[in-house]
Amino acid sequence: MLAAAVDLARAAAQLEAGADRVGAHVAVQAEDEAAATHLFEAGHPGYQGWNWAVTVAFAGPGTQVTVSEVVLLPGADALVGPEWVPWNERVRAGDLGVGDLMPTSPDDLRLVPGYLESDDPAIEAVANEIGLGRVRVLSREGRLDAADRWHGGDFGPRSEMARSAPATCGTCGFYTQIAGSLGAAFGICANELTPADGHVVHVDYGCGAHSEVEVDAGPAVPVADLVYDDALLDVEVTPQTRREAVPQAATSAEDAASSEDAASSEAAGQESAEAVAPELSEAVAPESTEEAAPGVEL
Ligand code: SF4
Repeated sequence: MLAAAVDLARAAAQLEAGADRVGAHVAVQAEDEAAATHLFEAGHPGYQGWNWAVTVAFAGPGTQVTVSEVVLLPGADALVGPEWVPWNERVRAGDLGVGDLMPTSPDDLRLVPGYLESDDPAIEAVANEIGLGRVRVLSREGRLDAADRWHGGDFGPRSEMARSAPATCGTCGFYTQIAGSLGAAFGICANELTPADGHVVHVDYGCGAHSEVEVDAGPAVPVADLVYDDALLDVEVTPQTRREAVPQAATSAEDAASSEDAASSEAAGQESAEAVAPELSEAVAPESTEEAAPGVEL
């Protein structure tokens, strides 16, 4: 009886959708012993795969079949929107803008009551004074959540900066510890020269601005301990230098004056030696200081 009520169901669908929007009969589904649903193709543009579902029912033998409900439902191949996700599960870090409000739900697992309110005004006053005035505080779950997030974040020990740092925040003078159990692994960086300034950093994070970092400020090219500037050598002629220079001077004297007298030759030699000294100093000066000419003091 319910399965045979196709025309009644179609008429009800056409009344809802319009005569030309209800297509072929697709199927009939039993709901229970007193109700069944007839499905018709929906002829609406953009609703491919959707069906008009008309539920019909009757009250028992001797009663008429009546229409209970007419709705448009997606079929197995219908194009449907993504599954609905509540807004508080959709928001992400960074979605909160200036002036936005993002309330926490009363059953937020990250929060637990800060303390149980007393009906004694004296106790309430003391509670506020010692800092128990917050209605809710972080729960264990909330603390573990935060620790996980910070540990795996930009200022955690696995970040690229931390892996190339010379030392960790735990040994840095700019590391400021935070109170509570989270202080065992986290603190605040107070160094304005690092991107972590003002952020929670893990004790094993680190950066190149660590307070104890040392940089080798020596020259890039190795330099010997002792350096001689051979462009500024002072050359002093000693008596030994003079004696060795005499023969050369004598030869020069012979070429110049053809001296016959040995005594006069020596005298001439002494004069020539003095004349030769500047030549000698010029010859010696450019040479290495370690191999200076014998008798030349530098
Ligand atoms: S300066 Fe660098 S090493 Fe020091 S606390 Fe800040 S982030 Fe850590």
